[in-house]
Amino acid sequence: MDTFVKIAKSKLKDFLQHIMENYTLYAPVKKKISRFERIEDPSQICLLPNRTEISLKPIFLPPKESLFRWKKVEDGYIIEDCLNGKEKKVIFGAKGCDVASLKILDLYMMEVSDPYYASRRKDTIIIGITCEYPRESCFCTAFGGMIPDEYDLWLTDIGDYYFVDIGSERGKELVSMELFERASPEDEERKREKIERAEQEIRKMAKIELEEYQDMEDKFEDKIWEELGDICLSCGRCNLICPTCHCFDVRDITNLDGSAGERIRVWDSCHLFEFAKTSAENFRRDRRARVRYRIYDKFVFSVKRYKLYACVGCGRCIDSCHAGIDIRDVLRRLIR
Ligand code: SF4
Ligand code: SF4
Repeated sequence: MDTFVKIAKSKLKDFLQHIMENYTLYAPVKKKISRFERIEDPSQICLLPNRTEISLKPIFLPPKESLFRWKKVEDGYIIEDCLNGKEKKVIFGAKGCDVASLKILDLYMMEVSDPYYASRRKDTIIIGITCEYPRESCFCTAFGGMIPDEYDLWLTDIGDYYFVDIGSERGKELVSMELFERASPEDEERKREKIERAEQEIRKMAKIELEEYQDMEDKFEDKIWEELGDICLSCGRCNLICPTCHCFDVRDITNLDGSAGERIRVWDSCHLFEFAKTSAENFRRDRRARVRYRIYDKFVFSVKRYKLYACVGCGRCIDSCHAGIDIRDVLRRLIR
């Protein structure tokens, strides 16, 4: 099998039907907001020109989930584990930033061997697709570009066909069907031009390039933190919308007589006042410190720990911040 193939747009539905016979398919849908959902029929899929408003994160790390439930019985307790990740998933139609974000989430969640995340994420097949028109807030080019390092299949619209890059053995198996054809060097050139054009557009809008592992640690006392602390509303939207933010809180909820209950986890946000509150003290009471912590966590601590930035340039935090804080402006000031 060639490493480059193509599929006619008219045959895409058949390909997705075939996937649905063997896997649970998740793909972008457009309702009130665009997001990935479990697909029952390929006609539900809405292939958007750029990223969805909600990232892939909730598929693997839901905003709220039960970890286990317990019930008191005569001779002790019955514990029911809520671990349930048997689904064989295919994610179809994800854009580069969201696929890149999974690599970052994997590092954080697998480091603590999180079984709930791991069971959902394990063996997920990724079929990504190149963005047609980037958003004004996109800046994935600051972190290497539109196409991530890891995927199973990658589609790029080249007219009547999608050019298909094969990124893994599993991807190769998926394209070994009659629906796919050999791609020509001209097809490949069309794909290359398409990606290059879109990346140029992003670079022009984003006006930010980061060197690999640029040192920002010496900016701890910079006056930018005070400026941002003064305008940040501490609402936490930027954390919750971010595909790589992964902090959560664990709570036990019991009924009134303590005979039954459940342990849940819910997303948390380092911008919230309570985030750093312990029984002894709150060590990040100050908004300035919380703003700084978020940026350091993404651009300093992650580099020390994993040699990567924990941001993929999706721009969701820019679009959702009521205070108008633009992470690209923050970075431009930190790296100058
Ligand atoms: S979304 Fe904006 S205002 Fe809200 S916490 Fe984040 S930076 Fe602050
Ligand atoms: S920090 Fe902002 S731009 Fe970076 S990945 Fe998170 S939401 Fe996207």
